[in-house]
Amino acid sequence: MKDQLEFFRDLGVRDLFVDRAAAPGAASLVPGSMSDLPALAKFLEGCPRCKLSTGRTNIVFGQGNPKAELMFVGEAPGRDEDEQGLAFVGRAGQLLTKIIEAMGRKREDVYIANILKCRPPNNRNPENDEVAACRPFLEEQIRLISPKVIVTLGTFAAQALLETDEPIGRMRGRWRSAHGARVMPTFHPAFLLRTPERKKDVWEDMKLVRDFLAPK
Ligand code: URA
Repeated sequence: MKDQLEFFRDLGVRDLFVDRAAAPGAASLVPGSMSDLPALAKFLEGCPRCKLSTGRTNIVFGQGNPKAELMFVGEAPGRDEDEQGLAFVGRAGQLLTKIIEAMGRKREDVYIANILKCRPPNNRNPENDEVAACRPFLEEQIRLISPKVIVTLGTFAAQALLETDEPIGRMRGRWRSAHGARVMPTFHPAFLLRTPERKKDVWEDMKLVRDFLAPK
């Protein structure tokens, strides 16, 4: 490497552009290759695979029961999540905890993650290249956890996980299938904070999930 760099320097080359995909630590994830969630989290450490890497404080990998039968997938970390490195710990997260508890479960029993593992600047919407770069990690997480049900929270989570552009208003409350799990799209808790009159819709959706998972 040193000889090569000196060769270019001697030719007069002054700028080198490093392909992100070839950057150290940016190996592609081979689907199915990770033995467990800690191994996957380690693989993601220092991730440089998209432009969000330069603005984040922490990668928000996701947390909860690694064998959860119920998984929640949100959009992307906000400010609180970025600071703490944990998914759904801000106001929307507190509402999510209440929803989980209303379903008769504890937060520690479920798994909570996001489509994007790094915070978009000023909480802007995820961009396609960011979703594409991050999706393999969520898919590997889902493979390792193997939940029976995934609840997607909000438009982006549903659209990214189900690879569709259908509006959330049409998807919510209807079972889908993806990644070996049943998927229930519902509204995002942050939306409910702004629009509390839609809480009853989410509760209808969560009752379907609760009843599906109830011991028979
Ligand atoms: N909103 C999300 O979609 N995810 C979080 O972790 C927090 C807020």
